[in-house]
Amino acid sequence: MNPSITSKLPHTGTTIFTVMSALAAQHQAINLGQGFPDFPMDPALTRLVSQAMEEGFNQYAPMEGYLPLREALAEKAAFLYQASLDPRDMITMTPGGTYAIYTALTAMLQPGDEVILFEPAYDSYRPNILVNQAIPVTIQLQPPHYHIDWQEVRGRLTSRTRALILNSPANPTGAILSEEDIHELRSLVGEHPLLLVSDEVYEHLVFDGRLHQSLLRYPDLLQRSFVCFSFGKVFHCTGWKLGYCVAPPSLMAEFRKVHQFNCFSCHTPSQVAIARYLQDRHSYLDLAGLMQQKRDEFAAWMAATRFTPLPSHGSYFQCYSYERISDEPDREFAIRLTRDYGVASIPLSAFYHDAKDRRILRFCFAKQSATLREAAQRLSAL
Ligand code: PMP
Ligand code: GLN
Repeated sequence: MNPSITSKLPHTGTTIFTVMSALAAQHQAINLGQGFPDFPMDPALTRLVSQAMEEGFNQYAPMEGYLPLREALAEKAAFLYQASLDPRDMITMTPGGTYAIYTALTAMLQPGDEVILFEPAYDSYRPNILVNQAIPVTIQLQPPHYHIDWQEVRGRLTSRTRALILNSPANPTGAILSEEDIHELRSLVGEHPLLLVSDEVYEHLVFDGRLHQSLLRYPDLLQRSFVCFSFGKVFHCTGWKLGYCVAPPSLMAEFRKVHQFNCFSCHTPSQVAIARYLQDRHSYLDLAGLMQQKRDEFAAWMAATRFTPLPSHGSYFQCYSYERISDEPDREFAIRLTRDYGVASIPLSAFYHDAKDRRILRFCFAKQSATLREAAQRLSAL
């Protein structure tokens, strides 16, 4: 008899990022779909990795991560967010931000727990909740600003609500949390024993002089949070899959119990290299300016098309409505753009559990100017 398994994720397909990147490759299209840069990372950082390998940093790193790197991250958090983090028991290195979020949810969730998330949402959150036999409670944010309605959040709390997932800057919308949001959140957690998972992988990609409202800034929020980061989007190395989680010691102890029997520890030479690279603050402080320029360049070229921009205050992404061009469903439209016009994007319905389609596409602008110009030119033919 052939063995079979009962799927834990019966309604989950292959991620849209994989689907659209494969389609882009098949049609040799410009890939503004999956979020990754098409320009090289800093050779100084790749040299530091080679140097670490040559120095012999080639065996297991500690389970929690290379300590000088965790120390450098604690210093960075103190400098940027006035946070006081003990690198020994509050920071754990992970193979990417997605893994950090998964591990946090797996450490905290019991079957039947409810987790509030906002849609459109990064696509891993919901399956992470479901695989733990917990229940996603979805709140839909409305375009164009995708602000959180905190009254609605209060209305969705029950005795089973265990956690809330936040993502600022948000993928796919580019929305960011404001001071007012933080105020609301602080009053909410004063009344309800909520845990928070804060996905801050785009922490350095906040534009127009606005402030990144990291939960690390607020001790009362941090004491109930798993705050997740990734180096992929900071150092233009999404393929390195290296990130980290920050949490108070009692929560981090549970996180590590799960982590130690999953990946155990992360790639050593890149941890050594990043620890050294972080000594220069420009390594991350210059990023917002660079990406804001790209957002603005792309927007200027897209002005010659019939796409309508939605606001983007952060992240790698800007959403555009194509209502003036077509009333095709967004998936079909995105596939047609890739195939016939040579530009891949991500249909926003992929970020909704019910595939809500508002005729919006997400474009990644972390690309060379020539790539962005060519893409906009192709789209102006529509
Ligand atoms: N969260 C969000 C919102 C993302 O867009 C991404 C993709 N960069 C991640 C988490 C995960 O990053 P990583 O590749 O480090 O897993
Ligand atoms: N974060 C990237 C995006 O939103 C993709 C990550 C992935 O492919 N899993 O495009």
